Amino acid sequence: MAGTAKIYRGRFAPSPSGPLHFGSLVAAVGSFLEARTHGGQWLLRMEDIDPPREQPGAAALILQTLEAYGFEWDGPVLYQSTRSAAYESVLSTLREHGMLYPCACSRKEVADSALRGIEGPVYAGTCRNGLHGREIRAWRVRTDAAEIAFEDALQGRQAQVLQRDIGDFILKRADGLYAYQLAVVIDDAFQGITHIVRGSDLLDSTPRQIYLQHRLDLPTPHYAHLPVAVNAQGEKLSKQTLALPLDTTRPAAALWHALAFLHQQPPAGLMRAPVAELWAWALRHWQAAHIPQVKTLPAPDIV
Ligand code: GLU
Repeated sequence: MAGTAKIYRGRFAPSPSGPLHFGSLVAAVGSFLEARTHGGQWLLRMEDIDPPREQPGAAALILQTLEAYGFEWDGPVLYQSTRSAAYESVLSTLREHGMLYPCACSRKEVADSALRGIEGPVYAGTCRNGLHGREIRAWRVRTDAAEIAFEDALQGRQAQVLQRDIGDFILKRADGLYAYQLAVVIDDAFQGITHIVRGSDLLDSTPRQIYLQHRLDLPTPHYAHLPVAVNAQGEKLSKQTLALPLDTTRPAAALWHALAFLHQQPPAGLMRAPVAELWAWALRHWQAAHIPQVKTLPAPDIV
């Protein structure tokens, strides 16, 4: 019997809010090695949909850094800044189906809401049935009381009831920009992504993404959320916590630490080896089963 070829298509989707740091490297390494060891493709997407949070030159620097680290991606980089027409057309579809509504509430009005969910205030639904003459600020998608559950390959079963835990969430912001939750769902489908490997900081976003996939008749990829690197204070490495940019002059050392962080036990001798040797070792020895099934792990000293 002619078997259907198993397609694996992974991706890495950095936001150009600053240079890559050790935390981003872990997500890049994990998604890349999972894709390649499954004979799959690995695509790159620049999530440049939030100009106020972008750092000039960061997108180019991210690509240069990935190259210096020896990553090879399939096809051209997809820039989300070029995708507004696709996002608008999905918003129109949701609007036509009565799933999207305009909201006039300010951030403060929402924050004052008594309802608390897993990411802060749950929108009370004030504008669900009309604006009552107030001006449109943002666009929200209606949520419901159905449980959304999925099996994360590393973190196990996850479930949320969006209406209770998150509330009707914004797809187009008051400043006219598209929300991450909208863009990521549209582009994962557009790029034909079958497997998403990323940091556990996005675990709580996944039910929102699955909800949108269901509403838009899009396939749901497999998810694996890696432990994220935290500093001594337990904070995720980020621009805000002053994580150091990756050193492009010594890629093997940071790559070695990223592999060790994911419990792949690279031999000590490879720390100073050419980066190609490290990749050759990693491709031969990668074991997703060795990745600790936890949400956070301490970052190594080098960061
Ligand atoms: N752009 C997001 C970030 O850098 C990642 C999005 C994703 O992997 O879904 O945090």
